[in-house]
Amino acid sequence: MDLGIAGKNAIVCAASKGLGKGCAVALARAGVTLVIAARGEDALERTARDIRDSTGARVTTVVADVTTPEGRNRVLAECPAPDILVNNAGGPPPGDFRDWNRDDWIKALDANMIAPIEFIKRVVDGLIDRRFGRIVNITSSAVKAPIDVLGLSNGARSGLTGFVAGLSRQIAGANVTINNLLPGTMDTDRLTAFAEAASRRTGMAPADVIAQRLAGIPAKRAGTIEEFGAYCAFLCSVHGGFIVGQNLLIDGGAFPGAL
Ligand code: NAP
Repeated sequence: MDLGIAGKNAIVCAASKGLGKGCAVALARAGVTLVIAARGEDALERTARDIRDSTGARVTTVVADVTTPEGRNRVLAECPAPDILVNNAGGPPPGDFRDWNRDDWIKALDANMIAPIEFIKRVVDGLIDRRFGRIVNITSSAVKAPIDVLGLSNGARSGLTGFVAGLSRQIAGANVTINNLLPGTMDTDRLTAFAEAASRRTGMAPADVIAQRLAGIPAKRAGTIEEFGAYCAFLCSVHGGFIVGQNLLIDGGAFPGAL
């Protein structure tokens, strides 16, 4: 399928690894010119090289923490008028809410609510003027089914979800869409980190932790960054214009609800 977005410009945040990288690769395959950001330079440059070599796309890197105003300024200086914006950042740590103070909450809100809203604020009027825009926020299945130890994530991402539900409907008439992609268990470094942490807590081998987790997913496996990227690229395509303000799970059937 021709996604119809060759020649468009995209910012993909937190894209040196994992789900952000999957989105960047899929957009590059569709002929999109990329600005990709992450904090660590080595992995970011490696990913940019891989994408250029495998797709021929133009890829600019920006070493930046996208949860800070300075980081966002640097990204937007490289691409002030993107057609496509993929918002992403690391997730907050697990824990018990009794141990979290105001700073912990502010950090989570900065990363998983305020950073995407600030990026949207900076680009949205240009998208409206140009009558084309696609914004995808990477959130989490925890928005639909909160995960007990991830209270910071449940809370911060729900704030973004509520905001997007309102804004997306105000701008859809200009062919500018905002949607949230909700990953369940995906095969990224995060899954390995989760397994290692659980192993330290329980004494179970990391491989057994992962096997147990995957056994609970109807698809009996983790999702891949390629699957995630393809979904994102479709939402960013010319065919995605009627998909507005949705929270789209990609979780192998793990969420048990009918709707
Ligand atoms: P990952 O494999 O660990 O990759 C994270 C990427 O984000 C890396 O490129 C990292 O590079 C970059 N990054 C992190 N914090 C950043 C920041 N402040 N500024 C710029 N770049 C930053 O993670 P992932 O599994 O793809 O997860 C992506 C998001 O989806 C996270 O918010 C995660 O909580 C959420 N999620 C993931 C899953 C899953 O199963 N994978 C499930 C639900 C939700 P640097 O560290 O070099 O900056």
